[in-house]
Amino acid sequence: MTPPFGTPEDRVPLIEIKNVSKIFQNAAGEFPALIDVQLDFFDGEFVGVIGKSGSGKSTLVNMLTGIDHPSRGKVIVGGLDVHAMKESAQARWRGKNLGVVFQFFQLLPMLTLAENVLLPMDFCDVYKPEERMGRAMSLLELVGLGGEVHKLPGAVSVGQQQSAAIARALANDPQIIVADEPTGNLDVKTAESVYDHFTNLAAEGRTIIMITHDPEIEQRLSRKILLADGCVIDPILVATLPWMPHSDLLNLNDKIERISLSSGDRLDINGRFSDQWIVVESGALRVSLFGYQITLKPGGQFAGLGIIEAIGLRDCLVDAQASPTRLAVLPRDTLYEALESTPDGQERMLDGIKRSVLGKTKEGRGGQGVIR
Ligand code: ADP
Ligand code: MG
Repeated sequence: MTPPFGTPEDRVPLIEIKNVSKIFQNAAGEFPALIDVQLDFFDGEFVGVIGKSGSGKSTLVNMLTGIDHPSRGKVIVGGLDVHAMKESAQARWRGKNLGVVFQFFQLLPMLTLAENVLLPMDFCDVYKPEERMGRAMSLLELVGLGGEVHKLPGAVSVGQQQSAAIARALANDPQIIVADEPTGNLDVKTAESVYDHFTNLAAEGRTIIMITHDPEIEQRLSRKILLADGCVIDPILVATLPWMPHSDLLNLNDKIERISLSSGDRLDINGRFSDQWIVVESGALRVSLFGYQITLKPGGQFAGLGIIEAIGLRDCLVDAQASPTRLAVLPRDTLYEALESTPDGQERMLDGIKRSVLGKTKEGRGGQGVIR
């Protein structure tokens, strides 16, 4: 699954998670922690992974990093099948290419913070021996631990241990950084400086995959992945219905359908599509109404007559303006059922359409529509 809108389809992913499922055996029987996960990650992305506790986030990290095996499916990183490697080769590969910040840090307690950061450098030989100590010091400095480098993990606070684990993950300047709630125990200032550093690394072409609960991070992310009960929620749903409870999004997840149009194709909003909610995924959709023409770009929302009558839209013609124009559609009854648990759900959904169509007329911003 690629980023929600407008990503060129010819980019080669750096990481491919292909049909990965993970089933744990416990006392109650089988428990699926990940269900048929399909994800691609690209160079230079700063991706946030969100989801409730127990939704499978840490399990996903363990699949990505090769620390645990999927029950089904594959993880391909830079063309290599991570789970087909021998354990020793995998450890070496991980040390060079992947910086991992675990949810529970896992610093070695008998080594100082500096020694903990030196360890992956000594293990992988990316930096010359004489460069290593200086690099360890500057990484610890970066996370605010310049004064604590010779202390044991047990002698510093939990937040400082987490900071040291971040410095350790950066030791070999890896292409990929996978961090499981890395700022959960950090003060605001240290968290900001970690985010700044991650943002810079992504701008230089590194890929950052970060599990997070911190809403402060949202505007820095290039994309957000939502997990619910082990399933990746369709990014179109996450982007267009961000206020919807995760359990309702999960109910819509396998009901959403894709339609592909060619330039000039008419969308029959009085007939076949009259009861469908529509989101433009790529390409462009032109809506002609009241003598205006509005172009809905990726992310723009619209619907069939059976839905948009409620906001006073009637005589419109809708056609595709690009080949292909890809749409995601959901039937009205399915959508309305999911909207029931949000008090003003229907209104919010209709507002999404209004903003898409009329956005540019209100203070000249906020919508996808361009009135010509
Ligand atoms: P998250 O990180 O999103 O909070 P996890 O990936 O840690 O969630 O766990 C997802 C689900 O899988 C949880 O219900 C958890 O109890 C279960 N789980 C995780 N690891 C194991 C395990 N080793 N054995 C059995 N169940 C597990
Ligand atoms: Mg977790």
